[in-house]
Amino acid sequence: MDTSLRTALGDKTARPLARQLELETVGDLLRHYPRKYIEHATVTHASEREDQRFRPGEHVTLLGTVEKVAGRRMRHRKGHIVEASVAVGAQHFTCTFFNQPYRERDLSVGTRALFSGDLSRYRGGWQLAAPEFIVLNAGAEAQLPGLIPIYPATRKLRSWVIMMAVRQVLDLLDEPEDPLPETLRAAHGLASLGDALRRVHLPDTREEQRAARRRLVWDEAFGLQLAMAGRRASATTRPAPACPRRDDGLAAAFDARLPFALTGAQRSVGESLAEVLAGEDPLNRLLQGDVGSGKTVVALRAMLQVVDAGRQAVLLAPTEVLAAQHARSLQAMLGPLGRAGELDADPEHATRVTLLTGSLGAKARREALLDAQSGAAGIVVGTHAVIQQGVGFADLGLVVVDEQHRFGVHQRDELRSRPGPTTPHVLVMTATPIPRTVALTLYGDLDTSVLDELPQGRQPVATTAVPAGVKPRWLERAWERVREEVAAGHQAYVVCPRIGEEGGEPGEPETPSRPDDLLDPEADADDDWDGGILRELETGPEAEPEARPPLAVTDVGPMLAEGPLAGLRLEILHGRMPTDEKDAVMRAFSDGRVDVLVATTVIEVGVDVPNATMMIIMDADRFGVSQLHQLRGRVGRGVAASSCLLVTEAAEGSPALQRLERLAATPDGFEVSRIDLEVRDEGDVLGAEQSGRRSGLHMLSVLKHGDLVAEAREEARAVVADDPSLARHPGLAGLVRSVVGEAEAAFLDRL
Ligand code: ADP
Ligand code: MG
Repeated sequence: MDTSLRTALGDKTARPLARQLELETVGDLLRHYPRKYIEHATVTHASEREDQRFRPGEHVTLLGTVEKVAGRRMRHRKGHIVEASVAVGAQHFTCTFFNQPYRERDLSVGTRALFSGDLSRYRGGWQLAAPEFIVLNAGAEAQLPGLIPIYPATRKLRSWVIMMAVRQVLDLLDEPEDPLPETLRAAHGLASLGDALRRVHLPDTREEQRAARRRLVWDEAFGLQLAMAGRRASATTRPAPACPRRDDGLAAAFDARLPFALTGAQRSVGESLAEVLAGEDPLNRLLQGDVGSGKTVVALRAMLQVVDAGRQAVLLAPTEVLAAQHARSLQAMLGPLGRAGELDADPEHATRVTLLTGSLGAKARREALLDAQSGAAGIVVGTHAVIQQGVGFADLGLVVVDEQHRFGVHQRDELRSRPGPTTPHVLVMTATPIPRTVALTLYGDLDTSVLDELPQGRQPVATTAVPAGVKPRWLERAWERVREEVAAGHQAYVVCPRIGEEGGEPGEPETPSRPDDLLDPEADADDDWDGGILRELETGPEAEPEARPPLAVTDVGPMLAEGPLAGLRLEILHGRMPTDEKDAVMRAFSDGRVDVLVATTVIEVGVDVPNATMMIIMDADRFGVSQLHQLRGRVGRGVAASSCLLVTEAAEGSPALQRLERLAATPDGFEVSRIDLEVRDEGDVLGAEQSGRRSGLHMLSVLKHGDLVAEAREEARAVVADDPSLARHPGLAGLVRSVVGEAEAAFLDRL
């Protein structure tokens, strides 16, 4: 498996595999699994079929010869079209490709190829629009397996070529050593590794293919769960600093000045955290709760217990904006208790909340570092990036991680694995709740607490998707409703995806990056052979010529002020405004001196204005559903009923609109996260790409493989209980390394 492809296949074959797909070893190639299969047995030889038996819309795979090919500019529309006439026996098919002039070269006259696509009628004949195809080499046809694997490929490296390379490698391969013990394989009915690898690439039947996949998915789930179990074991090898409770300290003073009663869930979760923090068994906890369930207060109370014990707590946020907002909201909640060293500090108990981010000036940064090092700062809030760069603490007792976006587990471990006689307690907070099976996959090393109760008086936010493209009247009505809310003494938010003016600068932190990436019509259409075609099928070959840029705060604000919302007190807010200006606008809105705030997602977190009862999100389809759920969590914070409108130009029946309608239909964060996961890339979910190295997770799906993950977790815990460092299971240690990577598997060496 570690043999280089150059040795196994020779330079000529190996070079493109390395260059195009970064496949260097036999193992790399064998783990480059097919994306799907087409059934050779049912390849349609059209000559054997009666013409009328074809139906438009039918999906067919054809083995044929190119007889004619020509490219030209389209007459009635912008764009270029290539038409290839393909003969299959006596039958002819026209294959068309839009805006891919190079297809003319790919399909020169005489080329034999497999085409796969949907039939439609065209000038009295049959057409395949933008079919997938594989060019066959002479003599290759006879060697086709029962199911033809289709690989993730590039334009320069065809699926077909990969298949031939895989076959060559499989012919040479000695039976690989199976990391899974025989007994475990028997217990779970799993194929051997050698069989699985052979059959995942060259199966003769669907059953063979499924059995192979199940075994390979098992490996991934098991490797991941072994890593989790091991990490858990490693987290408890050193004691944590004990932080006993005090009833005359900051925590008690804070509780006494809380303006509300804690919910039952906050109290009981708080109690269980407090108990563990008091002892030397490290806290290792995931705190889940819906938007608005009050996670921050729970985390802050835990931090205060730690400060009361004379130690420090750190709160890690993924971005500068979030870190700054966290710091501000902690300071606001603490009031005089958080202003140690200032004139208006609480005279008896006070600590300092210090912000540490990359954008601090040199002097401020020096001071912040000093605060952390000396222990003057009881609570340090910062970004991962900064805090990992060797910030020293006087006595770190608790690390709180705000997983607004998911960090790699590796990063999460960083502060905990610093050398020393103790290891800090760890509390991880998810931004939105995640389903249990997902939690097991992603956070299998942590215990879970759930805040399953919202503070009293909260009402679900009535959410409606507004397809403004189809029903412009709805949007007019929306602005009328804003006026009604304001007339009733309430306030409203209007959220836009973009700031505007200087245009969508790359890396603008407030622009949701993921949906935008997906929308980019040019996203390497050229490099990604399969993806290019798939994308075209999805959007329709001649979809809108250019997607317009997302709506911007600086455009929508004035437009509303002069139009439908004229006469209301309206302000705009976005991240590019100077800090003091931002603060002034936010204060004015909080104090009720502004009726309508037109903002970017800067208001996503840390904004708390109970009198705001309405939110209108423009171009809602540009945001992820979890983010929309977070956003609407900004209203419905008071006693009055609240509403949220998701305005979109997405077409009726489009996946984008359906997504918004599903979000509108549920107030439940757990359900929202399911929707989110379904539309998200699994690789993204598992956070594997974040470390920048290739992950060993290829097939595992947190949604599809819940049961299997639970099984694997049980086996993994049993193995690790018996052999924590896997010293007696070298095969399994190898599996862990191949799944989570060397860096993340480093904990194995610490055991
Ligand atoms: P999230 O879980 O989404 O992070 P927050 O911690 O931001 O929620 O809390 C949401 C809002 O609810 C904050 O304004 C917070 O002060 C308030 N809050 C928290 N707990 C309670 C409670 N028990 N009663 C009333 N309001 C609360
Ligand atoms: Mg929060």
